Amino acid sequence: MINSTMQDDFPLTITSILEHGTRVFGRSEVITWNGDGTSRRETYAEVGVNAKRLASALTTLGVEAGDRVATLCWNHQEHLEAYYAVPCMGAVLHTLNLRLPAAQLEHIINHAEDKVVIVDASLLPLLAPIASALKSVEAYVLIGSGDTSVLGDVPVHSYADLIASGSPEFVWPELDERSPASMCYTSGTTGDPKGVVYSHRSTYLHALATLATNVTGGTEADRVLVIVPMFHVNAWGIPFSSFLSGSTQLMPGPFLMPDKLVDFVEAEKATLLSAVPTIWAGILQLGEKRDIDLSSVRMGTSGGAAIPRSLLEAMQARHGVRIIQGWGMTETSPVGGMAHPPLEVERGTPEEFDWRLKAGRLVAGVQMRIVDDEGVEQPWDGESVGEIEVRGPWITGAYHLDSAPEKFHDGWLRTGDIGAIDDRGYFSISDRSKDVIKSGGEWISSVELENLLAGAPSVLEAAVIGIPDEKWTERPLACVVLKGDTTPEQLAEYMQGKVASWQIPENWSFVSEVPKTSVGKFDKKVLRARYAAGELDVTRTR
Ligand code: AMP
Repeated sequence: MINSTMQDDFPLTITSILEHGTRVFGRSEVITWNGDGTSRRETYAEVGVNAKRLASALTTLGVEAGDRVATLCWNHQEHLEAYYAVPCMGAVLHTLNLRLPAAQLEHIINHAEDKVVIVDASLLPLLAPIASALKSVEAYVLIGSGDTSVLGDVPVHSYADLIASGSPEFVWPELDERSPASMCYTSGTTGDPKGVVYSHRSTYLHALATLATNVTGGTEADRVLVIVPMFHVNAWGIPFSSFLSGSTQLMPGPFLMPDKLVDFVEAEKATLLSAVPTIWAGILQLGEKRDIDLSSVRMGTSGGAAIPRSLLEAMQARHGVRIIQGWGMTETSPVGGMAHPPLEVERGTPEEFDWRLKAGRLVAGVQMRIVDDEGVEQPWDGESVGEIEVRGPWITGAYHLDSAPEKFHDGWLRTGDIGAIDDRGYFSISDRSKDVIKSGGEWISSVELENLLAGAPSVLEAAVIGIPDEKWTERPLACVVLKGDTTPEQLAEYMQGKVASWQIPENWSFVSEVPKTSVGKFDKKVLRARYAAGELDVTRTR
């Protein structure tokens, strides 16, 4: 008989992340952009003090362990303070997606039973139509100043006043590492939003894992521009990992337009940028209109949706920005894979881009398997396709007050992504299971067609959906936003030889924009509904 001699009961908590960041990297900064060339700066040591002040004030307001404290905020220093204050006091931080329609926002605030809502003054209008329906909210905390009459009779406290009155001597309670720390609802692309509750332990382990050199390799030298919203899966964990690595965090506030972001990169010499493909595409387009200097950027990361090859190549060729794609979900905290190419592959070669177009290489800590329609596990041969299932210490094993048995399979999370994995753990995603186009018994990957079309010189962006077809069950309809002159026939011709000819769409619709979800993904639900309602002008090429 032998036992571990380690201190295995030492809890992995966000409090220890905070303590490390404030003590070891107390001089590192969070810099919030004002959008006009100026910024506000706060050191990590100061974030730590303000987190204590906020926690002390929230305690006075009656917030107890396990209570949900929501934030409806852009990315900025106060949001970062709440990121630490709320979990470290034992409460649960619920980051609200400010792009959700009012009805969904109301639903998730009520479903999570948020007790306090911390809100940016500029976002008060989002609460106006729903405030009277929010049953659990006992107090609001307002960052900035604005007309709070829209909030009804519920008490409103000023964030600045709470920080001033709160005690900097607040003592963090000892917490169980398995206790809930934060929560986030899925963006609901394929159904109602579901609540995912992260624990202290899952947050800690995920933050550590994302610092590995085969993920971001973040260090004290990094100046990370946190473009991904803090309501989108905890900003991919950056607010936490940066306190472990000492990286400076650059917070863009509401200034997410490409020109403002690039101004910020240039002014603060950002080294690491994390964003969804739509943002990268916007930056690339800006570069077609004016000179932009991204020479400080050592790496970009892209996730949330597949990035087109043309975008990866152009960002590198024109601006020297090497974007590494990552894969993840709200349910996976989010990082599950990062597509760093294998060592032997020469940089800048077409082969390297082939590797970088994989969704990712499995990150240490996460297990993956591919399962076919009958539930049979498929080999890691890079070809056998099925649903991707994952499990691990930062993968959700349940949803908040929603049993959703269809999302789990013998302890594995069913991702709803269809893909294949090779013998080195590189996996690719051909589609969401709901987006795959079933044509004549074969599958067509909408993602592959979209990426190909995005590379056509006259195309700004393209989304492909399956539409009913008497003969083939479904056929692809390409909804294309143009930036130059072309015809459906020319686009079909452009695709010849690049995919099997039977996969080339014969249904085309030129649209002014592709509808996007609250986190910037193509909203195919909306496109399908528009098609069904006869609202899309469709041209057939054969
Ligand atoms: P969300 O929970 O809203 O972040 O959505 C998660 C989903 O986004 C995943 O299940 C994928 O379908 C998609 N996704 C995330 N990253 C990628 C990627 N690199 N390539 C393709 N799809 C992705």
